[in-house]
Amino acid sequence: MPTNIEWTDQTDNIIRVKGGGWWCHKKSEGCANCYADKLNKNSFFGGNKQPYSGLPPELVLDTEAIRKWGFQTKPKKHFVSSMTDVFGEWVPRFWQHEMLDGMFVTPNQIFQILTKRPEIMLLSMDEWLSCHGLDKLPLNIWSGTSIENRRTLEERSQFLAQIPALIRFWSVEPLLEDLGDITQYLNDVQLVIVGGESGPNSRPCHIEWINSIVQQCQQSKTPVFVKQLGANAKFGGQQFKTRDRKGGDIEEFPLHLQVRQFPFDA
Ligand code: SF4
Repeated sequence: MPTNIEWTDQTDNIIRVKGGGWWCHKKSEGCANCYADKLNKNSFFGGNKQPYSGLPPELVLDTEAIRKWGFQTKPKKHFVSSMTDVFGEWVPRFWQHEMLDGMFVTPNQIFQILTKRPEIMLLSMDEWLSCHGLDKLPLNIWSGTSIENRRTLEERSQFLAQIPALIRFWSVEPLLEDLGDITQYLNDVQLVIVGGESGPNSRPCHIEWINSIVQQCQQSKTPVFVKQLGANAKFGGQQFKTRDRKGGDIEEFPLHLQVRQFPFDA
């Protein structure tokens, strides 16, 4: 599906609830205002109204969508899956491997996989690599983890760093606090995406926090992509108003934050 997520070209939700909608299980502070949960509560958008909590409903893997990747001629970036976590503990391991198989045979497309459970991603990818006699993921499979605060930085980055991917990335969104010194962790990532929270009840994101991440990435020559300032951006302790509801218009960013890089010309 086409998307307005700035760092990708389309979202491919290959895991759905049988009968319609999606499901995921909230994992950490960053999930509190999960947009997918909100969308799933709305049948107008195809949701099934089941909350992102409790026990998983019956799920299906869209193997047809995976098969269609092979017919794409125009190179694109695919965010797989935006409505759930494909490395959730409830997702069968062979589904994850089927997804990786589909990506492996489609080298002209870039697949961006983002998880809040990089420890499961690590195990699953290691198994898949050894089944294929490979020691590294191909360049078109990007492995990413979400980071929202210092705790998740320390916890998740160590698992992501062990994944033998050529492109490992962080999605630091929603940024909920100042991450402090991140330089020691930057050696292990090839891209940092950063943004404040959007949507109703957005928690504040201080532009100084974003600035600190951008500066440290630039010092360590790590590509950095400022996605959005968020719907509740602050600067110097004051509200930083933007015309764009999520503060996602790059032209409204302070000049030094107008940076949207990728590891290569992706
Ligand atoms: S992991 Fe992602 S999709 Fe799942 S509940 Fe958290 S924010 Fe929502």
